[in-house]
Amino acid sequence: MSASSQSTTPQSISPQPAASASRIHVSFEFFPPKSPKMEETLWAAIERLAPLDPDFVSVTYGAGGSTRERTHATVARILRETRLKPAAHLTCVDASRDDVDAVVRGYADAGIRHIVALRGDPVAGLGGAYQPHPEGYASTPDLIRGIKRVGDFEVSVSAYPEKHPESPDLAADIELLKRKVEAGASRAITQFFFDNDVFERYVDRVRAAGISIPIVPGIVPIWDFARTAAFAAKAGASVPKVFAERFDGLETDERTRQLVATTVCAEQVFDLVKRGYRDFHFYTMNRAELVYAVCHMLGIRPNGKLGETAAA
Ligand code: FAD
Repeated sequence: MSASSQSTTPQSISPQPAASASRIHVSFEFFPPKSPKMEETLWAAIERLAPLDPDFVSVTYGAGGSTRERTHATVARILRETRLKPAAHLTCVDASRDDVDAVVRGYADAGIRHIVALRGDPVAGLGGAYQPHPEGYASTPDLIRGIKRVGDFEVSVSAYPEKHPESPDLAADIELLKRKVEAGASRAITQFFFDNDVFERYVDRVRAAGISIPIVPGIVPIWDFARTAAFAAKAGASVPKVFAERFDGLETDERTRQLVATTVCAEQVFDLVKRGYRDFHFYTMNRAELVYAVCHMLGIRPNGKLGETAAA
């Protein structure tokens, strides 16, 4: 679906989570930098967000040698220079089992204990047919078994509340998630979504299928509505019409756009808190301010202190 989706449900902002709420946990996702300037931006974001004491921070992984090295270098530096617990993403697309195992051993040697295991996009990009490497892992469950053979890693995986674009239907996706759990995954992080009803219906179906691992909502800030809507359309994530209306006319007004983006993100997260969710994975896009502000409103304060809203 796309930005023209019919839903107009705004998620009302609640001043604070229910008093009986248990503690809110967050994790932050970053991508490895491609240039010294991007490296500076990334580290400014990490330094800003680190005192919020996330459960873990994850670093994405791309196809090709240089991106792989950048992921490794980033998680290794996080481990060396901070007290954060890094999780390294890993895909099995276009790589032999030996190559993938070597990357996993490299993570183990660097002290990484948590991998986000993914199949990865088809080599020709989303929309093309996925072809496993002839000597590679054929699927994500296969990859997870390979990772577990190398070491006792914590393994997180993806989940798709609005189904993966290649998937025939949600049932096939949930069946695959079940196989990932059987292979050893202990957490699923969702593709971003904007309609919390859709997410809640998905979680109900996952639970009905007998899957009990945490399904952690993936939250993406809307820095640039047009880009987010285009990416969402590719990823199969619907964007309620009200979002388009909120950003309408702000294309050249960055300051107001940022304020609106923070409000929209906070509304979504607070609505999920109201529905009982306590874990959030933020796709930071290597920018800290919006995520920091939302965490602050959730009552997450630097150095493990909790504000009024993050009831223990
Ligand atoms: P899976 O969940 O294993 O499969 C997705 C769907 O594809 C399945 O439901 C199934 O229907 C279909 N499918 C699976 N295997 C086959 C097959 N052999 N033939 C036909 N259909 C098949 N991408 C990156 O490159 N790097 C990253 O670091 C990264 N991090 C991500 C983190 C999260 C939390 C999420 C949600 C996505 C991430 N992605 C990343 C994107 C991901 O790689 C793509 O969505 C990819 O297309 C699917 O990988 P997956 O592990 O999610 O696939």
